[in-house]
Amino acid sequence: MKIPLAVPNLLGREAEFLQECITSTFVSTVGPFVDQFESEIAALSGTQKAVVLCTGTTALQMALEGLGIGNGDLVVIPTMTFIATANAVSHSGAKVWIMDVSPETWTLDLDLLRSQILTETDPHPRGRFHRASGKILRALMPVMIMGAVLDFDALVNLAREFGLKVVVDAAAAIGTRAAGDQPIAATGVDAVCYSFNGNKTITTGGGGAIAAADTALMSHIRHLISTGRVGANYDHDVVAYNFRMTNVQAALGLAQLERLERFLTRKAELRNHYAALALRHAHLHPFPQAPYGRNGHWFSGFWYSGADLSLCDDFRSHMNAAGIDLRPFWKPIHLQTPYLSSLATPMPVADSLWQRLFPLPCSTHITEAELAQVTEAADAFWAVHR
Ligand SMILES: *Cc1c(COP(=O)(O)O)cnc(C)c1O
Repeated sequence: MKIPLAVPNLLGREAEFLQECITSTFVSTVGPFVDQFESEIAALSGTQKAVVLCTGTTALQMALEGLGIGNGDLVVIPTMTFIATANAVSHSGAKVWIMDVSPETWTLDLDLLRSQILTETDPHPRGRFHRASGKILRALMPVMIMGAVLDFDALVNLAREFGLKVVVDAAAAIGTRAAGDQPIAATGVDAVCYSFNGNKTITTGGGGAIAAADTALMSHIRHLISTGRVGANYDHDVVAYNFRMTNVQAALGLAQLERLERFLTRKAELRNHYAALALRHAHLHPFPQAPYGRNGHWFSGFWYSGADLSLCDDFRSHMNAAGIDLRPFWKPIHLQTPYLSSLATPMPVADSLWQRLFPLPCSTHITEAELAQVTEAADAFWAVHR
């Protein structure tokens, strides 16, 4: 069997909590684990309330819809992300405006963003009027890529200057802290969304969460994701969703949260290990991280800056042959079939970058022997391909 990229670490109290769901019969959307998981996510995020959901994708979609964003609206996303970011915008009824990323941070390039807003849009009571599409730019959806901390101050200032909302795709960023050790949902952004899919830092099997400082927004979102029910009977006041998390999923999540600190410490160690590996080779570099706050290091590895792009495929084949799972990373959104004709900036950074990324095995319970196997295989390849 290959050393996998990232698999769940279920070596804590997961089985015990799951058994409690069976014993108590609380296996569905109501239950003590759901409430407790929500409070702990809120506490971690720096908010009073959090709402947990069935996936990270629905978390992003519901954050937008909760803020009243939908048909006729535009949402800016970076092209370097998982397809879910774009799909969440589409499901809300809004359209994506895809932007290239900063070569330093790999997320939204705030200079590019500002110049696009200034040249393509005019002021509008609900945001900015985008002249070419006739749509209203309402929100920014920056991505904390690999769990990297954003420059929240700059982001929030820019959003306020132009009357835009900020919904952060923090799918891979549970437990991260902004500059000054601030919790990420207390930075002035409108909402922060997490994913607890199987390969994320903590998992609930599948799941997501939204944390927002605005408690009225949180109540509205809770209403939207739980069928729009009013009172105890079958009365519903809006066409809503059933996007809730179950007590079984929350049971897993709570057991995972008990070890979040250890997971983050291990992820940071793996990051440092792969950064040291990269530094031994002329054209290899670690993934970006912010020099402030606490980064999540969901995935770590390195990227290749050399001239011979064919080496990237060769390296993947070499690692696979050595029993290590290494696949191409996310293909940028502007190259994905459903988004080929979306509004988009030129993409010099993402176009050149995406095939050069190598996310290496980073499960929190990877053994030292496995780590040595990965390291030796990578060193051997790059020692002869300079
Ligand atoms: C995993 C992920 C999501 C989506 O989460 P799901 O729980 O799989 O729906 C969204 N954005 C990013 C950046 C992700 O990595």
